[in-house]
This record gives sequence, structure tokens and C-alpha cells, in this order.
Amino acid sequence: MDYQSLLNDVVSDVAAYRGQGKVASYIPTLAQADPQKFGIALVLKDGTAVTAGDAEESFSIQSISYVFAVAQALHHLKGSLWNHVGREPSGLPVGSIVQLELEKGRPRNPLTSGGAIVVCDQLMTTCGAAAAGDEMLEFLRDRSGDPSVAVDDNLAMSESRAGAFNRSLANFIAAFGNLHNPVEEVLSLYYRNCSIAMSCSQLARAALFLAFDGVDPATGDTITTESRSRRINALMMTCGHYDSSGDFAFRVGLPGKSSVSGAILAVIPGTGTVCVWSPGLNAAGMSLVGMAALETLIDRTGWSVFV
Ligand code: GLN
Repeated sequence: MDYQSLLNDVVSDVAAYRGQGKVASYIPTLAQADPQKFGIALVLKDGTAVTAGDAEESFSIQSISYVFAVAQALHHLKGSLWNHVGREPSGLPVGSIVQLELEKGRPRNPLTSGGAIVVCDQLMTTCGAAAAGDEMLEFLRDRSGDPSVAVDDNLAMSESRAGAFNRSLANFIAAFGNLHNPVEEVLSLYYRNCSIAMSCSQLARAALFLAFDGVDPATGDTITTESRSRRINALMMTCGHYDSSGDFAFRVGLPGKSSVSGAILAVIPGTGTVCVWSPGLNAAGMSLVGMAALETLIDRTGWSVFV
């Protein structure tokens, strides 16, 4: 298959949607993003990237970091992670608090904000905050093959200042005894992870191990076990897009994770990974152009796991 013309076609197919989404405004720095931007990167088994549009432009990875944090937490905590967070879809927006009261401070899954906050807390207890944050950054540098990947500190600060919702979630979880470190310290690790700046091609490259049973096929490095890789994919499939996870399975049919910065990372098992980015969001908080692009890509390739 001529992947370059495929991606070029996708870019022209979705051109009409550009600028239609609404950029997230609750994080001031994020509100300045240009909704006209659109990038797509496809990374194949040998690690090469095929790209189109703004695929080399950096954006904050936001909740896509939750996926890598789960991999990190499963490595350090193994199955005991599930004493603190569930693995069921929530059917609610990413930062919803309502279920937390009914379910006594145990977030539904690690791909919600509350769940990711609990994952950060567990990592802090096990490794220490600084080591956990450094390990995440090093991991993404190694996996993307780019040592210049860094945290956007201004964004992390901007998000912390505007962080009343996440602060509420964290305090609520703490009130139920499911947070073991000081709220502000847990949130600062959480924001640090969310504010890591990467491009579509870097993100797709970093996640390649998830398409190949936990092994990075280009370097041969074992990143996680086959069973953890399979389970991370299962979480992405069922919980990766807030209350639109069912719609994503229906329209795209791949394990994936969306972020409020307008990126969507998807895993094509046995083939590779794809990352799209366009900051304008649809009503469900997913990249509007990115979603259209992935749908077009899957229509043309038949890469859905449900085929
Ligand atoms: N950092 C963002 C937040 O906590 C992440 C949310 C997201 O990407 N959906 O609000």
C-alpha cells in the first residue's frame, strides 16, 4: 500500500472540517491553539513514520499520558493497582465526579482524570514523585527516540492555576481514603505528565510496542509483557474516549486515547500506530478533524479490529 498517498488523501478528505471544532478553553494556554492545524503520523513495524500535515508540531499530550502512566504503574505495582482503580468504562465525561461518590472514591478506570490521579498517587507511593515523573519523561524520550522531548512547564502551571475541577476530584478521592499523598503533590505529577510536549510522529512512535504485544519491533526492546500490552489495549478500546468510547469503537474500531489538546492516538494491532492532532474539539471533547481523519483512514484500510 502506498501509505504516503493514503495519508495525503486523508488530509484532503478532511480539509472541509478544519476549523469547525472548538478549542478547549478551560486551560488558558491551551485556548491559544490554532484550530486550523492538522497532523497525522502513521508508524509502521520497522519504526518508520509516514506523515502528512502538521505531524511534526508539538502539543501537550494531556490525557494520552494516562496510557503510558498505566503501563508504568502495572510495571511497578502489578495487579495491586486494581485495588485502587477499576477497569470499566464510565460512560461519563473525562473529569466527571458523580460516580466517585456512589463508588466511594474508587475511579471507574485509569483513563479518566480521577483514575489517572489515583495512578499518579500510587506511583508516588511506590517510586517517589520526582522519580516517577522523570521515569515517564525518560520513557517517552527513549520510546520516541528523541531525547529533546520535554515538559512544557508554563502549560503545567497554567493548568494548575485553572485546576479547580481536578483539585475537587483529588480531594474527593482523598476523602474516601484512596489518595495517600498530599493532593497538591499528586496533582503536580499529574500536570507534569499531561504537559509533556510531543508531536504526532513522536507519540505514534512511542506507543508502537502496544501494537506488537509489548515489544518495540524496531529495536527489539521488551517494554511490557504481552498480557499487560493486551490489557492496556483493552482499556483504550473500552475507556479511551470518555463517554464516546462506544462511538469510537463503532466508527474507528481500534484501541485509542483522545486528549483535550486535540490528539488521538490509536493502535493498529500487528501493523503499527497512528496519531492525529487537530486542536478543535467536537461536543464530546474529541478532536473533530482527528476523528474524521481516523474514520476515513479505517474506511480505506479496513484496519478496524472488528473486520
Ligand atoms: N490535563 C487535562 C485535565 O486534567 C487532561 C484532560 C484530557 O486530556 N482529557 O483536564
